[in-house]
Amino acid sequence: MKPKTKGQRKTSRRAKQPFSQHPQCAQCVPAKCCRYFSLEIDRPRVRRDYDDLLWMLAHRRVSVYIENRKWYLMIHTQCRYLDTETNLCTTYDTRPEMCRQHSWRECEWHGPYDFEEHFKSCEELTRWMKKKGVH
Ligand code: SF4
Ligand code: SF4
Repeated sequence: MKPKTKGQRKTSRRAKQPFSQHPQCAQCVPAKCCRYFSLEIDRPRVRRDYDDLLWMLAHRRVSVYIENRKWYLMIHTQCRYLDTETNLCTTYDTRPEMCRQHSWRECEWHGPYDFEEHFKSCEELTRWMKKKGVH
């Protein structure tokens, strides 16, 4: 598994500046991009692989998505550096490179994720497996 950027839209983050917050980010409450991360996972090939995915989806705050034919595990958890009262990053000057590369111009604020598939529950993945003939 390798860490993945939040979509392929990150280029630079002007979003969570403590003193000159971008107006778009000021409207983005709660800050969507600071509330999850995702990891690329192996594409499931056999029934046992799908069973493992169903097990992951049985946990709260976890979803699975496909983007550009690659599979990802998405963990919905808030960054510990997000100040939920101000909606600002409390470590802006030392924020990770991942955050620096994120652009408010093309970010989660602009609409739903453009994933090919997004499974938020075991039931959703099970339905998809049936449709695809996975036994
Ligand atoms: S999702 Fe976009 S608008 Fe919202 S805080 Fe992040 S960069 Fe700003
Ligand atoms: S470090 Fe700051 S900008 Fe990066 S995810 Fe956390 S709160 Fe958001």
